[in-house]
Amino acid sequence: MPSRRRQIYEGKAKILFEGPEPGTLVQYFKDDATAFNAQKKAVIDGKGVLNNRISEHIFTCLNEMGIPTHFIRRLNMREQLVRKVDIIPLEVIVRNVAAGSFSKRYGVPEGSPLPRSVIEFCVKNDELGDPPVSEDVLTAYGWASPPELDEIMQLSLRINDFLCGMFYGIGIRLIDFKLEFGRLIENDQLRILLADEISPDSCRLWDIKTGNKLDKDRFRQDLGGVADAYREVALRLGILPENGNGDHTHNQIVH
Ligand code: ADP
Ligand code: UDP
Repeated sequence: MPSRRRQIYEGKAKILFEGPEPGTLVQYFKDDATAFNAQKKAVIDGKGVLNNRISEHIFTCLNEMGIPTHFIRRLNMREQLVRKVDIIPLEVIVRNVAAGSFSKRYGVPEGSPLPRSVIEFCVKNDELGDPPVSEDVLTAYGWASPPELDEIMQLSLRINDFLCGMFYGIGIRLIDFKLEFGRLIENDQLRILLADEISPDSCRLWDIKTGNKLDKDRFRQDLGGVADAYREVALRLGILPENGNGDHTHNQIVH
């Protein structure tokens, strides 16, 4: 059962509730999985619990590195307390290795390393199918200002460096991932914060030795073992007990 707080928004994978203090939100991680602009849907038992844990771990590390994020603390198995931001309506995609839509668009074989890490932007709009957008167009419309875009790109590359190293250390190749940023006014200053989540839902993660996919492509491509793959990531990150499956599906603890 999700939180009894006032619901603000229900998305495809998460629900946002009003937080306990002004300027905060509770992010509830559902087990729902969607792909291909929500044409494909399923419920994957335990996914929300695992993503909550994995995202908590990553955002905690990023906070400790001085990267500003919305994450405050995990509340329970499915919920985390975050700072409410005005989401910048962009999906920021960072790529190290060709895959997915990049491979299709440019005819680059899946798995070939890019000459350098690249950042792409898509408009966050499900009705339009999240179309790619150029820096020129997105700054012309003011979806982000040029200085905001500079900051977003610098932060994204720092996050990429950290994540590549973190995953490499546990035998995983970080192929690509999606980030979302938001604006927050603090002491009269506009700040950019990393928001949303970083999890196997939003990353491509390939086992270095076997090439096995440990991410949402298992769902997109009907490979099976989706929750097992996410659990494997959490286990390697050392955030689950060896015998624990972390699958406390129906727990909601009073905050
Ligand atoms: P979607 O909206 O694409 O279906 P989700 O189900 O993950 O995605 O819903 C989570 C929503 O919460 C997203 O739209 C995301 O932009 C938004 N969000 C994430 N973090 C914050 C935050 N700190 N403040 C406000 N909105 C946020
Ligand atoms: N991604 C995401 N949400 C989106 C689109 C992409 O989390 O709405 C992630 C996706 O999981 C992958 C990366 O961003 O790790 C790049 O995705 P791509 O552009 O290749 O799109 P796809 O092939 O998934 O359509």
